[in-house]
Amino acid sequence: MKNIIIFGAPGSGKGTYSAEIAERYGMGHISTGDVLRGEIKNETELGKIAKSYIDKGQLIPDELMIDILAKTYDAQPAGRGVIFDGFPRTIAQAEALKKMLAERGHNLGMMIELIVSEEVLMARLLRRAQIEGRADDNEETIRNRFAVYHSQTEPLSKWFEAEGIRHTFDWGICKTKEGMLEAIFEEIEKQNK
Ligand code: ATP
Ligand code: MG
Repeated sequence: MKNIIIFGAPGSGKGTYSAEIAERYGMGHISTGDVLRGEIKNETELGKIAKSYIDKGQLIPDELMIDILAKTYDAQPAGRGVIFDGFPRTIAQAEALKKMLAERGHNLGMMIELIVSEEVLMARLLRRAQIEGRADDNEETIRNRFAVYHSQTEPLSKWFEAEGIRHTFDWGICKTKEGMLEAIFEEIEKQNK
């Protein structure tokens, strides 16, 4: 299977769709958010640094993030394709990912962009705050994550388009999770033919 980069705003469902795709095609799944939350839970040095950024809705510095990503990638079983969930989030991370993969004789594969209106995103994140109790799912931090997304991450969408690997899936058109999944699976199978 080709590698897959799942791209979208906070609350767009990157984690949910990644898990569905990983299960269906037996792929690896790297969620940088989950890796960082694991470090925080285990109270590691890295966790302490990560917490100071996550709680404010800011991004962890690129050099640190790129290093974490490479280590996590190298720990994956070889030869089954990996889903990158929450990485890259900046142009520097995207360039580093491309280089890191090329050094290993691999490539980016395909990018899947989840398009969801900000209204729906905010409602979902506030609901998730009640269910999961994630510290960064409060209204003020969410607003900041949206601002960071627009300024630092969204420009990457064009970067992937220029790479010729961007595929978009619009919640407003698909309407349901099942509808989104059906469209996504169809595209993945087309790309792996
Ligand atoms: P989702 O789309 O799955 O609902 P999300 O985008 O809100 O979630 P995560 O991907 O879990 O959230 O990331 C949570 C936080 O972890 C980010 O706000 C950021 O502080 C940090 N983080 C995660 N990935 C990166 C990254 N690639 N670069 C910098 N910081 C990151
Ligand atoms: Mg996530």
